[in-house]
Amino acid sequence: MRKFKKFRVTIFILIFLLTLSSIAIFSMLISSNMKSLATKKAYEDITYNDNALRDQIDQYMLNVESLVSQMANSSAVINEDYGEVDRMSQTLINNFPLISQLFITDTIGMQIYKSSFTETLGDRSDRDYFQQAVSGKAVFSDVIISRSTNDPTVVHAQPVYRNGKIDGVIGVSINLKLLSNLTLLSYAPTDSKAYGYIVDSTGLIISHPNPDFVNQSLDLAYLSPVASVMTGQTGTGIYIFQKTEKLVAFTPSMVTNWGVLYQIPKDEAFNTVYIINNLLIINMIFVIFGALFATIMITRFLEKPIKKITHLISNIADKKEIDNNYQISYNEFGFIESELISMYVKIKKTQNSLEEKVKERTEELTVTMNKLVKTQKELISANKKLRGLALTDSLTGLPNRRSFDEYFKRFWNISKRNHIPGAILMIDIDYFKDFNDYHGHVAGDHCLKTISKKLSELLFRESDYLSRFGGEEFMILLNNVDYSKAEKKASMLVKEIHEMNYPHGGRQDTPVVSISIGVLCINDWDSHNREECLAKVDKIMYQAKEQGRNRYVIE
Ligand code: GH3
Ligand code: MG
Ligand code: MG
Repeated sequence: MRKFKKFRVTIFILIFLLTLSSIAIFSMLISSNMKSLATKKAYEDITYNDNALRDQIDQYMLNVESLVSQMANSSAVINEDYGEVDRMSQTLINNFPLISQLFITDTIGMQIYKSSFTETLGDRSDRDYFQQAVSGKAVFSDVIISRSTNDPTVVHAQPVYRNGKIDGVIGVSINLKLLSNLTLLSYAPTDSKAYGYIVDSTGLIISHPNPDFVNQSLDLAYLSPVASVMTGQTGTGIYIFQKTEKLVAFTPSMVTNWGVLYQIPKDEAFNTVYIINNLLIINMIFVIFGALFATIMITRFLEKPIKKITHLISNIADKKEIDNNYQISYNEFGFIESELISMYVKIKKTQNSLEEKVKERTEELTVTMNKLVKTQKELISANKKLRGLALTDSLTGLPNRRSFDEYFKRFWNISKRNHIPGAILMIDIDYFKDFNDYHGHVAGDHCLKTISKKLSELLFRESDYLSRFGGEEFMILLNNVDYSKAEKKASMLVKEIHEMNYPHGGRQDTPVVSISIGVLCINDWDSHNREECLAKVDKIMYQAKEQGRNRYVIE
C-alpha cells in the first residue's frame, strides 16, 4: 500500500502540474493578447480624442475667424462708425464669450478702437500677428503677454479692407481660461486623468486644464511630443511629465499654427489590462482550486479501482483463491480485471494439471521405491543367508572350515596384539571309517551331529570357538588359557565324549565312540607362524592316535 500511496502522489502531482502549466500558458496568452489589444485600444482612444479636440478647437477658431471677418466687412468698421462698432463688438463678446476683446488698428499698428476700456490706446506694430494681418493674412498668434493686463493671451487678426485696399487690422483676444474650460477633458470620463492641451508654435501652453500652466504660459517645447507637433507632425508616443509616464497623441491644428495634444497616464490607459490581469489572477486562483479539487477527485477515482486491481494481482501472485463471485468493475479497469481473472483461471488450470501429474508421478515413484526397498531387503537377507550358509556346516550347524580360517586369523591377530595366551585343539573321531562301514553313512552323519552337539555343550565360555574342520575333525580355539587350563579342557572333552557311551560297533577293541585331541598352547605369538601352527597341532593330534587314541597330547 505504501507504494500505492507514492503512485497516488505522483498522479496527483502530474495532473496538478499539467493543469497549472496549461492555466499558466493560457493566462499568459490571454494576458499578452489583452495587453496588446488594450494598448492598441488606448492609442486609438487618445488619437480619437486628440482629433476630436483638434476638430473642436478648429471649429471654434473658424467661428472666431468668420465672426471677425463679418465685423471687418461690416459697414460700421468700413465707415469707421466706432459707436456702431462698439455696440456690435459688445454684442459679439456677450454672445461669444470666447472672444474677450475686439480691437482695430490703422495700417501702422496704432490702435484706433478697443472694446474694453484702457487709458492708452496702444501700439501693436511690433506684434507678429499685426505684421502678418497687415500684409493680408488672417492669423492666429502664438501666446503673447497682454500689455494692458499682463496676462497671456492669443490674438486672431485680419486685415480691414477699404476701397479694395488694406486699411488697417481688426483683431480679437481669445479668452484662454474659457478656451481651457471648453477644451478641458471634454472627451474624457469624469474620473479619468486624461486631458487635452494646446501649445502654440513655440511650445508655450495656450490651453490646459491646469490654469496655473496657462497663466504662466508654461513652455513645453522640451517635451518630445510637443517638439514633434511643433514641426507639424501627427503621431503618438510615451513621455514622462511630472514624474508620470503618459501616453500621448498629438496633431497640428488645421486652422492655427498650434499643436493639439491629448494624453492619458499610462497606468490609466492600461487599467483595463490591469483589471484583466487581476481578473485572470482571481480566475487562476479559482481554477487552481478547481484543478486541486478535480485532481483529488480523479486521484480518488483512480485509487479505488487501482487498489482493487492491485489486490487482485497480489492475490493471484500469492496463489490465493479468487472468489467465484468476484465483481468485475463496470468501468475501464473492468477490462484489465477480466483479463487478470481469465489469466488466473488459466494459471489455475495449468497448476492443477501440473499438480495432478506430479501426484501421479510421485505415486508411481513411491510404488517403484517400495518395490526397490523390498527387493533390497530381500537381497540383504538373502545375502545374509548366503553368507551364513557359506560359513556354516550344513550337517552339524557348526561354523565350517571357511569360517574357521577367517576366525583363526582374527583370533591369532588379537591374541598376538594383546599378548594373550591361547590354545588350539584339533579333535578327530577315532576309527570313524570303521563306524561308517559298520552302521552306514546315515548313521555316521547322525553320530557326527551328536558329537558336534555334545562338544558345543561342553564349551561354556563364550569366547571358546568350535568348528567342523573337515570330515570327522573339529577345531577348538581357546582364548586366554594357559597350559593347565587347556589341558584340563582337553582331558574333560576326551572323558565326556567317552562317557557318552555312544556305541561304536565297528571294532572289537572300541566299544564306544571316542576322540583323540592334539593341543598346542601358545604364549609367545611372535615366535610362531599361523600355518605352521595348524600343521603342528595336526602332528600332535596324530601323536595321540599313535599313543592309543581316546586321549589327548599337549605341547
Ligand atoms: P583314525 O582312528 O586313524 O582316525 O581312523 P579313521 O577310520 O577314523 O580314519 P580315516 O581317515 O581312515 O577315515 C575317516 C572316515 O571318516 C572316512 C570317511 O568315510 C568318514 N567320513 C568323513 N566324513 C564323513 C561324513 O560326513 N559322514 C560320514 N558318515 N562319514 C564321514
Ligand atoms: Mg580323520
Ligand atoms: Mg578318525
